[in-house]
Amino acid sequence: MRIPGIRKAPCGVKGLGLVAEVDIPAGTVVWIPCAACRRWTADDLAAVDPAERDQIIELGYYLSDGAVLLPCNDFCSINHSCAANVLDSLRGFDLAVADIRAGEELTYDYRVFRYEPEWQFRCACGADGCIGTVRSARSIPAELLAAWEARLAPALARMGHVPQPLGDPFAGPLIPGPPAGSPAERPAGRPGRADP
Ligand SMILES: [Zn+2]
Ligand SMILES: [Zn+2]
Repeated sequence: MRIPGIRKAPCGVKGLGLVAEVDIPAGTVVWIPCAACRRWTADDLAAVDPAERDQIIELGYYLSDGAVLLPCNDFCSINHSCAANVLDSLRGFDLAVADIRAGEELTYDYRVFRYEPEWQFRCACGADGCIGTVRSARSIPAELLAAWEARLAPALARMGHVPQPLGDPFAGPLIPGPPAGSPAERPAGRPGRADP
């Protein structure tokens, strides 16, 4: 389930991506897994025909148990940036970590995906400090995790002070989630999509 006020749109050399139609303040919960997100177990995946399986894997996200989850409402169209304005909070939901203006692209850091077959791609994010080639990894380097937490901390602190169209993820049973600080059961997504 993603917040409203986002549309799929051309994003320059990256092809299609997600663009904000309204201002989205830092601290807004942008996406949480929900019942409408489709999920295939490893057995389910083995049973679908290869072309369909490739499509599911291309757009979906691997979980730690080998299942693949496909976020509803095109949220899988979010492109990677090495300086993303949305991050996996590592607490079971995705959080805006910068003020995102209407018309601005939402971006995500794919380096959080760690349950996948190997992949890599040349990054076109254009950010200062772009790492160039983004690769899947089985674990998140401590320095990267620390950098994310440094960006997450002020956004987490703002959560109670900005509108939350998706509600309070800490309040309901929707996100049983892992304890704070441990890697979330966040789908390990496959890049590709709009990225070259
Ligand atoms: Zn959903
Ligand atoms: Zn980059």
